[in-house]
Amino acid sequence: MAMYQIDFERCKGCGLCVEVCPKKVLELTTDVNAKGYFPAYQARPHDCVFCTTCCIMCPDVAISITKTSEEETNDEEMEMSDG
Ligand code: SF4
Ligand code: SF4
Repeated sequence: MAMYQIDFERCKGCGLCVEVCPKKVLELTTDVNAKGYFPAYQARPHDCVFCTTCCIMCPDVAISITKTSEEETNDEEMEMSDG
């Protein structure tokens, strides 16, 4: 799993992340922050594929995506039965 965070006060609402997101997850809020900007937020969080494109593009490093748990590998054995 991954955790997604946009720093509300750090974001300057440039909209770059909104533009680059391949899944159209992000939008700008209508709530103004302390600096007078409209920060981005995850409007459709379940569509996010954690590709990190938005983090890389953000000029203010306001977006962070971190892994919340260790990678777990579940090896499921396929059993074949004769009908
Ligand atoms: S991680 Fe990728 S899919 Fe998720 S919001 Fe950022 S650009 Fe969009
Ligand atoms: S690219 Fe960064 S500064 Fe620009 S709107 Fe997105 S989070 Fe905010």
